[in-house]
Amino acid sequence: MSHIRGKDTSIEVLVRSYLFRRGLRFRKNDRRYPGHPDVVLPKYRTIVFVNGCFWHMHEGCPRCSMPKSNVEFWTAKLLRNRERDVAQRAELAAAGWRVIVVWECELAKAVREDRLARLYDQIVVGADAGAGPGMDAGPGPSSEESVGRN
Ligand SMILES: [Zn+2]
Repeated sequence: MSHIRGKDTSIEVLVRSYLFRRGLRFRKNDRRYPGHPDVVLPKYRTIVFVNGCFWHMHEGCPRCSMPKSNVEFWTAKLLRNRERDVAQRAELAAAGWRVIVVWECELAKAVREDRLARLYDQIVVGADAGAGPGMDAGPGPSSEESVGRN
């Protein structure tokens, strides 16, 4: 099996260990989902992909520059990767998952801490704030009152 993401291992580990330290529990590389997401948080209906900028064609990113030889081969290959990413994300979203992508360049030393803190908020706070119909946020204390006495 040639897994194209072998080189990304360290950034995946970085993200996972951060989330773990913040108290989140998750599944990793879950094969039941398209794309074998790096982090699956069923409690928050959230999936996190940690993407290498080159392999996943991070648009406008300096790390995503095309190799100088075999340009046609690489262009085709990388475009295929990206199309697959888009399709997988759409599939997950349709199944009710929130999909968050963390890019390799967002994990550079200088910006890493900010990005990880934001990711945590996206997962935890985002789940409450953007509660869709499937999520039960529970009835607020006020809703009972308004229904009550009249
Ligand atoms: Zn990038």
